[in-house]
Formats: sequence, structure tokens, C-alpha cells
Amino acid sequence: MSVTVSQYVLKVSSRCDLACDHCYVFEHADQSWRHKPRNIDTRTARQAAWRMAEHAGEHGLSRVHVVLHGGEPLLLGYDGLRRVIETLRSLIDPVTRLDLRIHTNGVRLDASLCGLFSEHGVRVGISLDGDRAANDLHRRFASGQSSFPQVRRALALLRQPEYRHLYAGILCTVDVRNDPIAVYEALRAEAPPRLDLLLPHATWDHPPYRPPGSPTPYADWLGRIHTRWVADGRPMPIRFFDSLLAAWEGRPSGSEAAGLDPVDLLVIETDGSWEQADSLKTAYDGAPATGLDVFSHSVDEVAEHPGIAARQAGLAGRCPTCRDCELVRACGGGLYAHRYKSGSGFDNPSAYCAELKVLIPQVISHPSPVASTPEREGESMVRHTLPATAFDMLAAGPGDAAAMEVLADSRCSVNRVLVAQVASVLDGRNGELQRAAAEGWELLAALDRQHPGVVSEVVSYPYVQAWAAHCLREDPGESLELDRAHVAGLAAAAAMRAGLEIELLLPVREGLSHVPGAGALEVGGNVGPVTVVRIASSGVSSRHGPGEWRTIRRIDAASMSFTVDDLDPFRDCHAWTPAGRLAPTDWDAWQRGLTASCQQLAVELPAYAAAMAAGLRSVVPMRLGARHRQSGTSRHAVGALAVALPGDVEMLSELLVHEMQHTKLAALSDLIDLVDASDDARFEVPWRKDLRPVDALLQGTYAHLAVAELWRVRSGHAPDGRARELFDTYRAWVENGIGTLLSADSLTPAGERFVGGMGAAVEAWADDR
Ligand code: SF4
Ligand code: SF4
Repeated sequence: MSVTVSQYVLKVSSRCDLACDHCYVFEHADQSWRHKPRNIDTRTARQAAWRMAEHAGEHGLSRVHVVLHGGEPLLLGYDGLRRVIETLRSLIDPVTRLDLRIHTNGVRLDASLCGLFSEHGVRVGISLDGDRAANDLHRRFASGQSSFPQVRRALALLRQPEYRHLYAGILCTVDVRNDPIAVYEALRAEAPPRLDLLLPHATWDHPPYRPPGSPTPYADWLGRIHTRWVADGRPMPIRFFDSLLAAWEGRPSGSEAAGLDPVDLLVIETDGSWEQADSLKTAYDGAPATGLDVFSHSVDEVAEHPGIAARQAGLAGRCPTCRDCELVRACGGGLYAHRYKSGSGFDNPSAYCAELKVLIPQVISHPSPVASTPEREGESMVRHTLPATAFDMLAAGPGDAAAMEVLADSRCSVNRVLVAQVASVLDGRNGELQRAAAEGWELLAALDRQHPGVVSEVVSYPYVQAWAAHCLREDPGESLELDRAHVAGLAAAAAMRAGLEIELLLPVREGLSHVPGAGALEVGGNVGPVTVVRIASSGVSSRHGPGEWRTIRRIDAASMSFTVDDLDPFRDCHAWTPAGRLAPTDWDAWQRGLTASCQQLAVELPAYAAAMAAGLRSVVPMRLGARHRQSGTSRHAVGALAVALPGDVEMLSELLVHEMQHTKLAALSDLIDLVDASDDARFEVPWRKDLRPVDALLQGTYAHLAVAELWRVRSGHAPDGRARELFDTYRAWVENGIGTLLSADSLTPAGERFVGGMGAAVEAWADDR
């Protein structure tokens, strides 16, 4: 079985401006940094990016994660970082979605670097070990001077509204000599969107420092934080705890330190050498080396290295003690590096085994998430948790990447269940349409086993939800067989993304065979209800002669990437009539308008733009009617917006940000009840003449919160003009909506918290009156 890799650590500097005495790069067994170039050069960065893109393209990967790392990556400097970032974006973005991050000690982070990261969508993680005393224990300059003030300044910068969307979280290395609650409180005070607590690297040869007293000091220390965190309502995700819980519940752990998932990560050093995970530096000198490099070896070749292959074996790859352990599903035997012992190599339990046996039962006995999708009877639905900070970020208006990720994952799970429900009635015995549907479903299920990420990407396309909801309606209409056979189009889309070259049967609808999210093949009106098509990664062709392949076009601008879908047969679920296929001149106008709007939003509302980059999958062009502004969303197509192209970019930006609020809130409402659905009360709203139900009141208020913020920013450039008037109008609408919502008896407790968060965002505008 071929191994795919979607996570990379790219070392852009091999030196550091700090001299932390617990650093595994410089202070542990592996000393290879001494022979590495100080900084990566452009040729090496380019070759590394090309290798990643090549692998993603060949394997149809839906996303690649790259962390810029060191040593200290900011030592590369502004120009060097810009070159590396632009190289990665230019080579990987055209192939797949690139989640780009940097992990830094924060000492050199400043506004110009944040501006660079904002421009290119690079999220920033910072190392901090707790309060000043805890941080000073290890994280010092070579002179002995503390790094604490500089790191706090970096974190304060990331909390500023214009950079908040870049803030990825804090990594803290545990030291049991510190007071755990003081560390927790200090880290929490920095408002990280995510926190990770790392066990200090240790092996059986070099066991963890354990002070006299308890035999399990790390379990005691982390256990106290866990107890406090649960009592506080889990104010931010803590990755180590969440990973253990996820693995125990059968979900991907998202971490090397928990669970049995195959390892999917490679490191590229500044000289272009491929290495295994950095944590192996703690085992012995040369442990992470592979002897391969980006100039001579592809990712596929590195993936065959015995060190990588050994970590694909799941339970079978664990030592006999771990295989028999009742906690292995959550623990996975601990971090690979921590299993090392001279003589038996990595075939041992973790050097932290004793503490993991105490900590894990505590963590898995507290499964209650802040919010979760309900388990539906008879359906296998993955549970999704929305951390409190992510919920509050959404309430404040934009939301952040963590929140958008949970909403997207939740949407994918819901769509998977809906598609499976449609497929559950297929038998393939009567006629060509049924056969196309049954064969398509069979192919999709097979692809899901080999390329689950590809299938997730396909089924989470917004109009897949609209299609499934249509098929599952009580009155689905007369073309139900044709509609159900659309599942073959999903299989075709997944096969295309996976790079397969196959033939399959697709239904024909008004002369077109549709591949959702990709395009449609024009086969003409004289064929039957189905046709055989050839799938290739470049497009779809007809087995029976010429046929034009119409691609669904994309916008890639300001870190946003979405389709402009003028083909999907199920896009007609919005309030207005969709336009037909755009003629080339019309497409030019759309492309110009949408690109300019995305760029404008990235400058005017970077946090909203970042959420849009994470959540917007498609824009559907609408036919312009009598009204000068038309736009809409549908609860059955979360992640898609429908817009009629207005005459100016300013208005288009406003419509996009307005509709994106609707789709975010629809996704959130699928996860958490914000209003009492049985309440039939109707309310006056200032933006419409008719009375509105409570969910529409909440939707309108939330959309206008973003629009008011947009005009607030615009009025900063023209304080006395039209922008100021519009800001005042929208702010009054939002205040009115919030007041009505809070005085009605229609909100759930979560809804009250959400509306309270909106109110706090409005109060922050007080100085603008
Ligand atoms: S900041 Fe990071 S890379 Fe630098 S010495 Fe400290 S732990 Fe090592
Ligand atoms: S708790 Fe110990 S024995 Fe059990 S899986 Fe973890 S390391 Fe292995």
C-alpha cells in the first residue's frame, strides 16, 4: 500500500537566538545541526515545495500542511521568509489547499512580519512555558537573560484585531518543578486559540526527570491542569487531552503523541535532506536521518524508508506490552521517540508509560464536549466538539480557523451520512440509471477506503448536501431515479481528484453529465439516460465520440480559493434564479469582481477574510433581477453563497461578507441549538417590513454585525461621508436586533452566550460614536 504524506516541517533556519537548555534540536543526542547550512536557500525551498506539490498531485491530496520551523525560523529575516512563503504558495496552491504555519519563539515577531503572514495566510504558533518563573527556567538567551518580555509582546501583537486570525496557539513544554495551575492560568491569560502541553523528550536511556515523591509526577501535574480545565468549561482546546480523547473515541487523534494512526509527517532540513520527526533527535545521534534529499528523492521514495514504513503498522507496530494494554487505543504507546532503549530500539512502551496509565483514564472519563453533533439513531456520526473559545470567536463576528475547521468537519460528517442514506435504497437491478447509481456508490465506497481525504473533500462540496436533501425529501419529484444516479458523479469527482484513469457510467441531464465541483461533459441530447465516460485528472471525455468538457472555474485570491459554480444541477436552492453557464465576457467580469472583492476584504477585514478562506467553497452566479442587490444562502448548501454581480466591488464585498455570516451561522446552528425551534413568536426588524421568526432575527443581526464592521473600517478612511452614515445605520440595526433577541424568551443558554458575544463586539465600537 502506498503511503501518503500531507504534513511537512520545513526547516528554514538551523540556528536559534535563544539557548533553551531543554531544546531537543541543540541539546539532545542528535547534533546534526552543526553540519547544516544556517538558512535554507531559495533553490532548496523551491525543490522542497515542488516535491510536496508533486506528491499531493499524484495522490489527489485535498490538503497539505507545512510548518516553517527551525532552530528559529524568523532568523531567516523578512525577505528570506517572503521568498520561501511565495515559493510554497506558487507551487502548492495550484495543486491543493496549503495550510501554512510558522512555529517561532516569538522574540523577533513584529508588525511587518505579521503583515507578511497576513498577506499570505501563514498562521503563527508560539512557544511559551507558562508564567515568568516557569519560562525563565529554560527559555533564556545565551547571556542568561530572560526571553519572557519579548514573547509576551509577540503574543500581545497576535491578539490585536488585525492579526488575531493569524494566532494559531501556544506550545508549552512541561516541567514538573513549576506550579501547574500557575502555568495554566498564565497560558490561558494569553487567550490562545489552542494550547499544546508537551512532555519533555526522554527515553529509557535518559528517563524523564522525576523529583522524589510521587512515582507519576507528570500524570499528577497534567491531571491537575485537566481537572481545572474541565471545571473551567474547557476555555480553549488542549491538544494533548483532546488527542487522547479523540483516539479513544475512534477518531483521528491529530497528534503523533496519541493513538494508533499512521504517521504522516516528514521534515526537510535547511540542506534539503529528508528527515523523520524531530523528536527522534532525543534518541541517538543521527536517529532522524534518512540519507535521502529533496533533490534526488521524491516523497514516495522517502515514504518507503524503513523508519517511516515502521510507523504505518498501527497496533501491529507496537511492542507486546502495549499490544496487550487496555489503553493502547488512546495511548498508542506514546510518542515514538519516547519508546527508545539501547538494544531494543523503539520496541518498548513509552518511557512515560507509568504516568500515561494514570493520566489517560482521567482524560477519557471526561468526554463531555462544549458542543457536539448529536449521535443519530442508526447512523455512524462522528462527534465534533466546538471549544468555548472558538464558539466565542464566532459570536464576536468573524470566527477563527479553529472554529471554521470544526464547522467544516461537522459538515463533512453530516454530508457523509446524507449520501449514505441516499445510497441505502440503491439496488442497481432495474434499468441503466439504477445501475449507474449502484456502480457509482460502489466506486465511491472503494475510493473512500483508499483515499478518505479525497472523498471527504468531494462529499463536503455544498451542493452535495443540496442534492442529498432533495433526494431524501418526502416529495422528491418525478426524476428521483435520475437524481439518485448523481452519486455516480460524486464517484467521478473523487476518481478525478485521486488521479485515477477509469471509465464509468454517468447519468445524462439535459445533455450534460455532471461531475460535482469539477465540471460537466456535454454529451448532447441524443444519448440515453446514461453514458460511459472516461475519467482523467485533466477532465472527462466521452467514450462515444467528441463532447465538450466544461470546467467549473475557480477564484484564487488573497488566500481564498472557491469555485464559481454555474453548472451544478442542484445549485438552484437559493432564493433567486441561478444564471446559466457564463459566457467568456461575463466570466471575465465575475473573475475581476470576485478577485478584487477578496483582495479588498483581506485588507479591510482580515479576520473575516481568513474565516472566508477557511469556509467558502463556492459562489453561484445569480441572474440579476429587478433589485439592484441580490444574494442568498441556503441551509442545504452550507459553504456556498449565491450572488448577482453588482456594479461595484464595494457592494460585492459587502454581499460576500453578509452571506458568509449566514452560512457560518447555519453551520453552527446544525451543531448547537441557539434558539428554541418550537417558538413561533414573530419580531419586528429594522431591515425588513415583515415580522420575522427568531432564527431569521438572529441570522439578520449576525450578518449585519459583519457589514457594520466593514463600514466602520471604511468610515475610518472617510469619517464624515457615506461610509459613516452606513456604519451608523448598520450598527443601529445590530443593536436593535441584539436588544430584541435578549428581551425575547426564545434563546437557549448557548444562544444567550452567542448574542452576548455579539453585544460585546458592538460595545467595542463605543469609541466610534
Ligand atoms: S527557542 Fe526553540 S529552537 Fe530555540 S533554543 Fe529554544 S527550544 Fe530550541
Ligand atoms: S500505557 Fe504504557 S503499556 Fe499502555 S499503550 Fe501506553 S505505553 Fe503502552
